[in-house]
Amino acid sequence: MLDRKGRDATLPTSAVPPVERAAAAWQTLPTEDPALAGGILDINLKALVENWRQIRDLHPNARTSAVVKANAYGLGMIPVAEALWAEGCRTFFVALPHEGEELKKHLPRAEVFVLAGVPRGEAGYFHEHGLTPVLNTWEEVEEWTAYNAARELRLPAAVHVDTGMNRLGLSPGEARRLSGHDNLLRNFRPCLLMSHLACADTPGHEMNGRQKALFDEIRALFPSVPTSLANSAAAIAWPNWEYDLLRPGIALYGGNPFSERSNPMRAVATLYATVLQVREVRRGESVGYGATWTAKDDSRIAIIGVGYADGLFRRVAEGVAGPAHVFVAGQFAPYVGRISMDLAAVDVSAIAPDVLERGMRVEVMGPHVSVDELACWAGTIAYEILTSLGPRFTRLYTSS
Ligand SMILES: *Cc1c(COP(=O)(O)O)cnc(C)c1O
Repeated sequence: MLDRKGRDATLPTSAVPPVERAAAAWQTLPTEDPALAGGILDINLKALVENWRQIRDLHPNARTSAVVKANAYGLGMIPVAEALWAEGCRTFFVALPHEGEELKKHLPRAEVFVLAGVPRGEAGYFHEHGLTPVLNTWEEVEEWTAYNAARELRLPAAVHVDTGMNRLGLSPGEARRLSGHDNLLRNFRPCLLMSHLACADTPGHEMNGRQKALFDEIRALFPSVPTSLANSAAAIAWPNWEYDLLRPGIALYGGNPFSERSNPMRAVATLYATVLQVREVRRGESVGYGATWTAKDDSRIAIIGVGYADGLFRRVAEGVAGPAHVFVAGQFAPYVGRISMDLAAVDVSAIAPDVLERGMRVEVMGPHVSVDELACWAGTIAYEILTSLGPRFTRLYTSS
């Protein structure tokens, strides 16, 4: 809860509890002291876990994994994965091998799939670190099986089939060929057959049905291999789907998985910036680079310590998609002028001067300014907002 001066009464202002320090230390913070930080990114692990549970409960007959690539969409891979592990999540997807290595250090018993697949000559790295590759090309299948054959191993791997997105994956023809290729199948264990939907964010899109039908044809060729098709949107749009493993990402982190439906998830990340100065601007004066905003009346402007170097896109304040604002002292305050590298200006003329002061917190994103709203102002999606959150914030892991 924000108090009357916009400070979150539940957040410690200087002392960070030890467990949160441990989680925060992994982020190689510029400072552990929130009072000295560029801003505070509050990550609500309870909301994260509830979002995961919501998806799990929609699919009593399937397993629910967690996609934690790109540092868990910017929110901190280790604290996120540890919270989900404590809740019973045992399978994780990362994009890159080194993300997988890092995750395995903290959760050695987790099943970790690497979406980008095995780089040429690196099968041994996957073996050494207990990582499960997602095989995306015929060449990768051959390299993985050759590695196994040479050592008389039968290590697991996921087989990714492209069903229309034309991103990664074997072609349906290659998948058919693999299904009849005993020599290759003898030398690794296909532990998952997966594909990815291009338009799940729009459940009514005809492409979903086409991809599903093709995937169903292919999975019939691998009757004993568990299957996975759903990202967040598909997992929510089609409860109790007949596939074995769900791969939610964005929904866990509170972003809206859908383009045209309201968001069924709880917000997870709240970003607070600090007021560095409150200044009087006379009518006719301008604010910021390029003097793009001019005060129509005498105004009060708060300068806050967050900018595009922190992932606050310049486009947000351009007002292309409507006026953008922060939430401060219980009210919305619109951005004025351009966002700079480390600073932004907001108009606080409508807020009583005695409740504003240097050092108070401003919600840039959170319960009052959703990540999806911010994404809309920036002309992008919640995924890009979250993964662009800069390294200068103190990340606080809370559970309320
Ligand atoms: C990123 C990704 C996901 C998760 O997608 P969300 O839309 O964030 O739920 C699932 N599967 C694959 C292959 C991905 O690349």
